[in-house]
Amino acid sequence: MTDTSPRQPKRRIFFAIWPDDGTRAALLEATRSCVGAAGGRSTPAENLHLTLAFVGEVAADQLAAIRAIQPPLVGGFDLLIDTTGFRKRARLLWAAPQRVPPALLALESGLWERLGELGIERDRRAYLPHVTLARRASRSDVDIGPVHWSVSEIVLVESILGPPHSTYTVLETWSL
Ligand code: ATP
Ligand code: MG
Repeated sequence: MTDTSPRQPKRRIFFAIWPDDGTRAALLEATRSCVGAAGGRSTPAENLHLTLAFVGEVAADQLAAIRAIQPPLVGGFDLLIDTTGFRKRARLLWAAPQRVPPALLALESGLWERLGELGIERDRRAYLPHVTLARRASRSDVDIGPVHWSVSEIVLVESILGPPHSTYTVLETWSL
């Protein structure tokens, strides 16, 4: 029998693209001066990622269903991380691709289609693919050198909120 008691512990999860070690190093190198100039609290190297779909807190039975999802197999694609942006209210400094590949959008919308079938609805904000570089930052005018990111898989990640910062654990990996 499924335990549906409200005391069932919930876990905070999201789908993401995770950089391999080489891409992570390239992201760090390309954004170092920009992050330094922006101040604030930089994202720890091991936490750098690009979120595809933030699911939020789920119960164990829901998590099991999400782990069994078959994501849309859009094939591998390349991302060129070549710009930065700043979200004023949250003082977030982020890096992003100027050109968003159609495969990335297909992946994101396909994931939400499948999550919708499980009764999980997305919020109404438009999808803005980005890599958070720093929080409580000041605007930085320094631009970044482009980082080539070859994407061949996606992951489901659990987030345990800090302080000092969130700890992420990859729960599942799917090859595209
Ligand atoms: P903190 O919020 O404590 O700074 P965090 O943002 O690193 O921690 P989470 O809040 O668990 O950790 O978020 C995990 C990922 O999902 C991050 O990439 C975050 O930007 C993204 N995210 C969080 N909430 C939402 C949301 N409501 N909509 C879209 N993406 C979200
Ligand atoms: Mg957050």
